[in-house]
Amino acid sequence: METLESVDQSEAVRNYVDGEWVSPEGEGDIVTTNPATGETLATVPFSSSDDVDSAVRVANDAFEEWSALPVEERIQPLFELKSLLEDHQDELAEILVRDHGKTLAEARGELRRGIENVEVACGIPSMMQGGALLNAAPEIDESAVRKPLGTFAAITPFNFPGMIPLWFLPYAVATGNSFLLKPSEQDPLVPQRLFELVDEAGFPDGVVQLLHGGPDTVNALLDHDGVEGISFVGSTPIAKHVYERAAENGKRVQAQGGAKNHVVVTESADLEFAAEQTVSSACACAGERCLANDVVLIDESVYDEFTELILAEADRQTVGNGLDPDTDIGAIISDEHEQRIRDHVETALEEGATLLSDGREVTVDDCQGGNFLGPTVLGDVSADMEVSREEIFGPVIALDSVASIDDAIERMNASRFGNAASLFTASGADARRFRHDAEIGNIGVNVGTSAPMAFFHFGGWKESFFGDLHAQGEDMIHFYTDKAIYIERWPDA
Ligand code: NAD
Repeated sequence: METLESVDQSEAVRNYVDGEWVSPEGEGDIVTTNPATGETLATVPFSSSDDVDSAVRVANDAFEEWSALPVEERIQPLFELKSLLEDHQDELAEILVRDHGKTLAEARGELRRGIENVEVACGIPSMMQGGALLNAAPEIDESAVRKPLGTFAAITPFNFPGMIPLWFLPYAVATGNSFLLKPSEQDPLVPQRLFELVDEAGFPDGVVQLLHGGPDTVNALLDHDGVEGISFVGSTPIAKHVYERAAENGKRVQAQGGAKNHVVVTESADLEFAAEQTVSSACACAGERCLANDVVLIDESVYDEFTELILAEADRQTVGNGLDPDTDIGAIISDEHEQRIRDHVETALEEGATLLSDGREVTVDDCQGGNFLGPTVLGDVSADMEVSREEIFGPVIALDSVASIDDAIERMNASRFGNAASLFTASGADARRFRHDAEIGNIGVNVGTSAPMAFFHFGGWKESFFGDLHAQGEDMIHFYTDKAIYIERWPDA
């Protein structure tokens, strides 16, 4: 079979349906480019509702045999997939850098996090077990089991095209379901290569399928009767739309949305360490992370000292092509997104923020066609400014002083988002209060970016998440199965 190394990448990517690579029938497409160079990479076709219907029918047929296989047999292709992903990790990381713009180190880290989810799902024989009780009533034994449900779909964003599909795929199939992925149309090449490896891993045809497309493809999945449940990761307005439409159609749904994350720095914190971690959190992946902590609330007694440390750390960042090993901050996904970030900075300045460090004039040698921004640090950012309220998704850091940790928590909790927050402190009492009072799903203490390992769920509260069962770990087993109770009496003959 052709791999992306052997085909011209400016050719159209294809769907993977019933074990075959096929071009969708839908009209329209989008051409993607390397964000660091502007080089054309791929044409992404939009799957129509007929394309969705064919794939869902195939998935439902495949479910019959797949769900009846012994669980040990279902996890063998996952072991194979893990080793294929590891063997091809460097190749996948390079594709990811060219397609998305992040650095090689970030791409390798992302893939590692994806592989962890495959590893966790290989433990399904233990994780999926129910419970049993002898003599629950006179001569009656009772037991609970988990059963797979049918076909599930995941719709994923551009910022982690290697990891986020793996928050779902391994658990869906290990529990006995069929699975469809609709990846972001902005960087389709890693999902495409991932599915070439899925093809090699030995899943029966139709159990795991890939559909490229845009909003119409998503809506066709949300409306299809043959889809049992939807996992979504992306921006808040689309997460809300997906949650409402899928629920209206009677589906299970988990929809993770956008974010506005805070760092709180107390007087007792190790300020140098906190500054290093804060700049990394806000600027890694060019700030295009739902866990980027970009509003920094600093105890007023250390505001000036900490601001100097942030500026020095920001100054140390090298902006460039992610393939260059010296690069700390890679390219922004698109011209349009770069312009959106510039507009947010402009608005902040109009609203009265102070420009402490300006990354807007950065240039990168040999990358004239690329989209780049250096770290931009804004001071005196008040709670009512847009930069404090809205997700920027770029390397922009907003600083303000607070009188106490209670003020910081109050300001943080006023946000409509609740994805992540970090506290830097040497005080156990402050740490306890922060953990207890923060209305936030992923909380870090002396940790810059609170990204949970695969064996824990990925948090997210308020408008950062719609649903109740989150991505990763045990929550996925609950999402992908329903429970049944067996109550049995076997009288002696
Ligand atoms: P996006 O919402 O634009 O797109 C996500 C997916 O939705 C894509 O597959 C896209 O094709 C589809 N989509 C886009 N518009 C649609 C519409 N009108 N109708 C139906 N489907 C539509 O998000 P993005 O720009 O790709 O990703 C960035 C966003 O994702 C940020 O807001 C970020 O915070 C969020 N994100 C959240 C998490 C989390 O765990 N909470 C993780 C990663 C990213």
